[in-house]
Amino acid sequence: MSIELCKWYNNARSPVLLMIDDLANTWVDTNKDGTLHLGDDWGYHKNEKNSSFRYLNEMILKDFPQLKVTFFVPVGVRVGMLLKPLLTQVSEPMNADEGSKEFFKSIHQHPNFELAYHGTTHGKVGQRAVDFIQEWALFNSVDEALDTIRKGKDIYQDVIGINPSGGKYCGYTSNGYSDESIDQSGFSWWCRYWNRGISDGGKQEICGNDHNPLTNFDIKRFGSTAVIDIPSTLSGSILNGVLHRETTMKGIAKRVLKKILIRWKLREITYLLEHQLVISVQEHIAPSRDDGKRQSPNIFDDRKSLRGIFHYLEDKKVWYCTGSELADYVNLRDHVTVERINENTFILEHPASYRDQVISLKFSQYNIFQIRRPDDVIMDVREGYVNLPVMEGEYSIMKGGIR
Ligand SMILES: [Zn+2]
Repeated sequence: MSIELCKWYNNARSPVLLMIDDLANTWVDTNKDGTLHLGDDWGYHKNEKNSSFRYLNEMILKDFPQLKVTFFVPVGVRVGMLLKPLLTQVSEPMNADEGSKEFFKSIHQHPNFELAYHGTTHGKVGQRAVDFIQEWALFNSVDEALDTIRKGKDIYQDVIGINPSGGKYCGYTSNGYSDESIDQSGFSWWCRYWNRGISDGGKQEICGNDHNPLTNFDIKRFGSTAVIDIPSTLSGSILNGVLHRETTMKGIAKRVLKKILIRWKLREITYLLEHQLVISVQEHIAPSRDDGKRQSPNIFDDRKSLRGIFHYLEDKKVWYCTGSELADYVNLRDHVTVERINENTFILEHPASYRDQVISLKFSQYNIFQIRRPDDVIMDVREGYVNLPVMEGEYSIMKGGIR
């Protein structure tokens, strides 16, 4: 019988992440009346009525309790789009006051949520929206980037109490100094590219240059500390074109067409599942912008699409995780090896720092049998896999119902 490490926790086909960009202490007064309307808020209004965080919880997450969300937070004063904005935008650092700190901290402490790093201001505004320069494109040296990251991490630390373990480039934009600044700042994981953008003819600076989907949609590493690069593989808006499409057809024909179109759209997800690749669904927390345009994708316009995606995944063997949970499992998997002592005994070779973390093992035998752990606890192996804590000592395979 062969024993292998599972690619993903719990022998899942794919890890599934909902990644929401630009949760920040910011809001845009789109109605110019000083009151909060749905979609205006980026996090400034916390969990109030009409706030985006409440909308996310009540309109999307409520029916998917297993789903985990990684929020990417610009920690300082998130800038708008224009030097002379058309709409008033209120923006504060995430540690502006006790109430703000409490709000952001409570999100990070929720077991289904994680706050990741997304720069300080997000960048620099210009005369027009197209003149916007993204944060990591502003730095003219590694030291300049490191300096800003240090200031940003201080703010994060002030609110959360620990350093952020991962993050994402603002607008997926980087320059020749960027990767080294992430590497040297001690991040465990990062999102560098809008990987899915390649198929839409996106620019190399934003999408990277890996055109092979089997590697482009999988975990990579970069830098001297082997930072884990989590790919961005799916837009939360994929079903919008189908769900909002108006046709002149009526009744059954319309329903059949809709079904076919949805299946056609969902093939992006099917491909990722079939090849055990990362399913990371990308969104923004709000559509509002101070230039009056709409930010997309966003959780308001994509509510039905998101619900469609997560309903589709309900009966699939997937692992719902945050960015840090994914990175931790990948590190564990890459540092543990199965050493066979004999047919029925094995040990898990590992550096001491990985002890007691849970690794998933799969076996070539599919019927139910047991494993006796080094601490004599007996665990069932079902459907050919088991989740085992990494321990010092021998694990024994017990066949034929011996207990
Ligand atoms: Zn952003």
